[in-house]
Amino acid sequence: MFIDSHCHINFPELAARMPEILAKMADNKVTHALCVSVDLPDFPQVLALAHEYPHIYASVGVHPDYEDTPEPSVEQLVELSNDPKIIAIGETGLDYFRLQGDLEWQRERFRTHIKASRITRKPLIIHTRSASEDTIRIMREEGAGTEAGGVAGVMHCFTESLEVARAAIDLGFYISFSGIVTFKSAKDLQAVALEVPLERILIETDSPYLAPMPHRGKMNEPGFVAHVGEYIAKLKGIPVEQVAEQTSANFFKLFNVVA
Ligand SMILES: [Zn+2]
Ligand SMILES: [Zn+2]
Repeated sequence: MFIDSHCHINFPELAARMPEILAKMADNKVTHALCVSVDLPDFPQVLALAHEYPHIYASVGVHPDYEDTPEPSVEQLVELSNDPKIIAIGETGLDYFRLQGDLEWQRERFRTHIKASRITRKPLIIHTRSASEDTIRIMREEGAGTEAGGVAGVMHCFTESLEVARAAIDLGFYISFSGIVTFKSAKDLQAVALEVPLERILIETDSPYLAPMPHRGKMNEPGFVAHVGEYIAKLKGIPVEQVAEQTSANFFKLFNVVA
């Protein structure tokens, strides 16, 4: 069994094909998926999916790339996450690649999510792009991670260096690899994946984006997470069943989900 730890199946291009998407998950032994919230207006749809399907879970959060969207307060995130199917806070984090200029609002929004995670004890889903130094700094300042009495989380769609991975792992975090790790050009990332212990790895699609090989360029979907698991098994020279079992166990442990 595989688990897609990060997808956006509420996005219209995927939501419109739900029966097909669920069938493809079953075909590829993808047993669960976490549908990740990106803003407050879309959150009701994310929650509705999690309520409709027992093996779909959800998070609540506002993505760092969404500039013109209602800003969440700590209290709001805490209140919205008060549902057994909401297992995480996010996605949150910093993105200095997609947006430039004065991004103090992005850092403030990130701090808000970490505070909500500490109150709710629900793990963080962190997006970081071209901003790893500030990301790790703010995680430490706000007490994200198990060391500081907070809860851990996942560095999703990881594309940073081994040093950043280690800093996050030291805070109790997991590292999630997407289809990017299967790309021929991703040699540096493959070297990182080789070093990260399997006990700290999650796998994801981030669908509808970033389809793994051999579907690169097509619309991605949770069933394709099996290709990410297969690739990591090949990279590490271990059986694919071991990757499937361990990454699924990691998911259940991190998000406190009883399968
Ligand atoms: Zn992301
Ligand atoms: Zn995402």
